[in-house]
Amino acid sequence: MKKVLITGALGQIGSELVLRLRKDLGNDNVIATDIRKLEDNFICDEGIFEKLDVTNYDSFLQLAKKYEVDTIIHLAALLSATAEKNPKFAWDLNMNGLMNALEIAKELNTKFFAPSSIAAYGPDAEANNTPQDTVMNPTTMYGVTKVAGELLENYYNKKYGVDSRSVRFPGLISYKVEPGGGTTDYAVDIYYQALLNGSYESYIDKGTKMDMMYMDDTIDVIVQLMNADPKKLIHRNSFNITAMSFAPEEIFESIKKYIPDFKMDYKVDTVRQKIADSWPNSIDDSCARKEWDSNPKYNLDAMTKEMLEKLKEKLKAEGKI
Ligand code: NAD
Repeated sequence: MKKVLITGALGQIGSELVLRLRKDLGNDNVIATDIRKLEDNFICDEGIFEKLDVTNYDSFLQLAKKYEVDTIIHLAALLSATAEKNPKFAWDLNMNGLMNALEIAKELNTKFFAPSSIAAYGPDAEANNTPQDTVMNPTTMYGVTKVAGELLENYYNKKYGVDSRSVRFPGLISYKVEPGGGTTDYAVDIYYQALLNGSYESYIDKGTKMDMMYMDDTIDVIVQLMNADPKKLIHRNSFNITAMSFAPEEIFESIKKYIPDFKMDYKVDTVRQKIADSWPNSIDDSCARKEWDSNPKYNLDAMTKEMLEKLKEKLKAEGKI
């Protein structure tokens, strides 16, 4: 991985990945792209940034050729809660974008990464310690696109030799860029509301456990997997990865250790609750640990400490607290 094109680079993951790769590979070797451009934004202003709609194959191919990239990291997609509101659009973006990206990886012989999600699992899968290889049967359009995407990445690897790599991300928690419409977004919002208002109304119900990971670990996971020895990778669909699994009342208790007066109640959103109920409570990440030494560092309390510290600095700088 020496010269990388990233799609969806202004999103929650992309923004932090671009920063890390600019540091690791140099500004000229990271081509950040997104369908939108933002004013006064560090991704757009402090390195190479190009506007790109991933559903436009010709522009996508032209950019990858122009910069002679050796790796494509494809992050542009519609996330779970938004996808459920507009399933047809979700299919078009998630599948056509991925197909274009894989075709270009094949044509230009680049390495390839596109993430799947815990949403690839549906209620037929074992709910606890869900195995890497088991029945998937997702019941959301987002999950359907993620399973189809995993199969497609595996197909391009087996049929054309594309060096495709992928993980099933759990809910991702970060403070730099706000999340883009996922079911686990509550676990980011709760930190904002704890600092801004001292209280939170959870749209996910008590007792609903989901896997989660802090963004620093997420970025390490991507870099580590892309640098892993290809001969050791048995799985080419998508590795289960996780750092912790918790329910709303557990993140609430973790925050209370730092903000003792913090209050929380529940107003369950039936759409997002139904999505959450169809996902695993906790997944088994032993294949990732074995095949490329995945080893996330942040547990719930370590993440809470850092989220509250960093978010407080950010909100102060923005004059919000
Ligand atoms: P995000 O919603 O924060 O960002 C997506 C980016 O894609 C946005 O900046 C958007 O402008 C861009 N985009 C939308 N349509 C586009 C198009 N046609 N062409 C080019 N760019 C377009 O998403 P994210 O959280 O950074 O997620 C990135 C990937 O990781 C997705 O595949 C998502 O399914 C997966 N994932 C994310 C999470 C999470 O919790 N964030 C969890 C599991 C999997």
